[in-house]
Amino acid sequence: MVIFTAVLWLVVFDLETWFIVNSESVNIPIFGFHNIIDLREYNDRAAKKSIYGLDYDVQNLAQFIDYLARHNYWVLTTEDLYTYFLNRSRPVPPQHLNQKPVMLTFDDGYKSVYTRILPLLKELENRYGKKLEVVLFINPKQTREDPKGDRYATCEQLREGLAQNLYDIQSHGYSHRRLTELNSQELEWELLAGQEQLRSCLNYGGDRAIASHLAYAYNDSNSTVEKRASQYYRSGYLYNHQMLKIGWQKDFYRIPRIRVDFNQTPEQLMQIASFASTLKSGRMFHPFQSRVNANIFLNFF
Ligand SMILES: [Zn+2]
Repeated sequence: MVIFTAVLWLVVFDLETWFIVNSESVNIPIFGFHNIIDLREYNDRAAKKSIYGLDYDVQNLAQFIDYLARHNYWVLTTEDLYTYFLNRSRPVPPQHLNQKPVMLTFDDGYKSVYTRILPLLKELENRYGKKLEVVLFINPKQTREDPKGDRYATCEQLREGLAQNLYDIQSHGYSHRRLTELNSQELEWELLAGQEQLRSCLNYGGDRAIASHLAYAYNDSNSTVEKRASQYYRSGYLYNHQMLKIGWQKDFYRIPRIRVDFNQTPEQLMQIASFASTLKSGRMFHPFQSRVNANIFLNFF
C-alpha cells in the first residue's frame, strides 16, 4: 500500500515535488493557559484554594516567555497561523526564517490577562525590544456581567492590550456553553453574539481580525458545530493536548492545543516548545494551488 501510494505520487508529480511533499510537515505547539495566579500573594495561595488545576503561576509563565523571547521564537497570532500555515494565502515573511513558531493562548478572559500578563509582556518588550502578542479567547457575557472587572478583564482593559498590539482577541463563544448540547437557535446565538458583542466591546472598526477565530468551550465540538462555526469564523481551536502538525492538519476547525496545568514546570513547557519546527527557505507544495504558484512558498523541515 505504501509503495503503491508512493508510485502514485511519482506519477502525478515529479520526483522533486514528491520529495517536498514528504518533508513538508511542520510542528507548531499551541499552548492553552487559563487563569494566571501569583503564589506570592495571599489570595492566590493554598490557604484559599486546595487545587490549582488549570491555574498557572505568573513566575513560571515569566520564565517560559522570557525563554521564547531569548531563543527567537515566532509567537504566532491566530491570523498568522491562518494566513501562513493553514490557508497559505501568503508566503511566510523572510524575517521569520530560522525561527520556531509557537502560539500562546489564554482562555476565559480572567482579569489576570490585564493584571499579570500585560505587565509581563511590557517588561519583555522593554528588555528585548520585541512585542510578543498573545491570544485571548473571551466570552463577552462574562465581560458584560462584570463591568468593574472583579473577576474578568473589562472591555477597557482588553482595548488597552489590543492598542499596544500585545493582545490578539478572539471568541470563546458568547457564554461558555457546551456547543454540542445546544439546539440550532442557541448554537447560532453562542456563535454570532459571541462574535458581535466581543467586537462591540472592543470598538471594532473592521480594521483588525477581532473575534474571527473561535475556541470551543470545554473542548466540546462536533461536525455540526464546526460546520455552523465556519459561517462566522475562519478557524476553530480544540483543547485536546495534541501538537499541530501542518501537512497532516486538513481541517481548519479542529486545531489542536496543548493544555497547560499548574503542575507543569517552565522547563517542561520549554521542552514542548523546542519540538516546534525551524522554518527553512525553499519551495512548499500546496495541494490546492498549481505548481507554478508553489515556487513562491517556503518549505518547512
Ligand atoms: Zn474556557
